[in-house]
Amino acid sequence: MNILFSPLNQSFTQAKPRFSAIKPKPSNKVELPKVVDHLDLKSLAPGQHHFWLNLLPNSMGGQTQIPVMVLKGEQPGPVVGITSAIHGNELNGIPVIQKLFETVTPSNLKGTILAVPVMNVRGFQENKRLFDNHDGYRDGMDLNHLMDGRLNQGEAGMYAQELVEKIVDQCDYIFDLHGNGLGREGLNYIYADKSNADSWKMALNCRPDVIINIASKAKKHTVMPLMRIANKKYIPAITIEIGQACVFEPKRINRASHGLLNALNEIRMLKQPLADYDQLSKKTKITNSELFVSTLKKGGLLTVKSRLGEFIPKNTPVAELKDVFGENVETIRSPFEGIVVFRSTNPVAAPGKLVLSVAPVAEEVQHSSVGGTGK
Ligand SMILES: [Zn+2]
Repeated sequence: MNILFSPLNQSFTQAKPRFSAIKPKPSNKVELPKVVDHLDLKSLAPGQHHFWLNLLPNSMGGQTQIPVMVLKGEQPGPVVGITSAIHGNELNGIPVIQKLFETVTPSNLKGTILAVPVMNVRGFQENKRLFDNHDGYRDGMDLNHLMDGRLNQGEAGMYAQELVEKIVDQCDYIFDLHGNGLGREGLNYIYADKSNADSWKMALNCRPDVIINIASKAKKHTVMPLMRIANKKYIPAITIEIGQACVFEPKRINRASHGLLNALNEIRMLKQPLADYDQLSKKTKITNSELFVSTLKKGGLLTVKSRLGEFIPKNTPVAELKDVFGENVETIRSPFEGIVVFRSTNPVAAPGKLVLSVAPVAEEVQHSSVGGTGK
């Protein structure tokens, strides 16, 4: 037995750590998480607070809880929501939130950051994108398509409604952090509605590689992701895509964190700017449509040739499909021209698999060297 880990060993507390402990900044000192039914942001003192927030009762008779981090500034200001992992295996947003909470101090903050590192706790625990209802026949519900309170969707619909009432409704702005689906990689890109001026500014200030303008899609779409339900409630919101599922990618995490720091600065929540502009894109490409190349009716093993961010003219060969014996099945060509926003990294290709997405570039926004939105 390793005596250092025996609680009976009196020398336990005196044992010298093998590595020097990272001391939290005094102003960011956090107490143990409190379990609460509701968040009362107004009653909190300036500083950092951690909570387990009760949502629904669960099938064990206990409560389903989500982790919540609050950073309250020393001066008043808006409440900014930063939500992550509503698709439970899209993990890069979690360290983005942690990094922000290490970087921003209450003395530098005007307002409150309300962050939920894991929105879909069940999907996260099961390493899955979706939320399984515990009723035995409705597995795999997409919480992000149930945010308009579809209570006929069982537990998932009720859970989504609680997220709206207890988190979304508390916020003045929302940055919803996602990632590409499992087996895909992508640029740093953002979905935002250009017809909503405040949301559009938030997206530009994050300085991603690409912004996909969903204004035209928003009118006809029937599903209600968090971003859209928030915008409908006059809470400007955007969806930020950060890297791949099921991994932490330090470079992408870093870029997204600095993008958020710039966006917070531009809504005047920081007394001193904190973003490192060298980490961020100097130009952002804007697209009004996201087009998908798929393998249509054929299946096999796929190798995508086109790289992320590459401009591909119409009819460019973008991928090769072989069968399991190594025989060529098909050379896949893009029927569109534009830049590659995400691409498949998983060779297993069933019919209908998305090979890559192509964005026809409508305009490019040049950013100033520090701060600002470009235009
Ligand atoms: Zn997602």
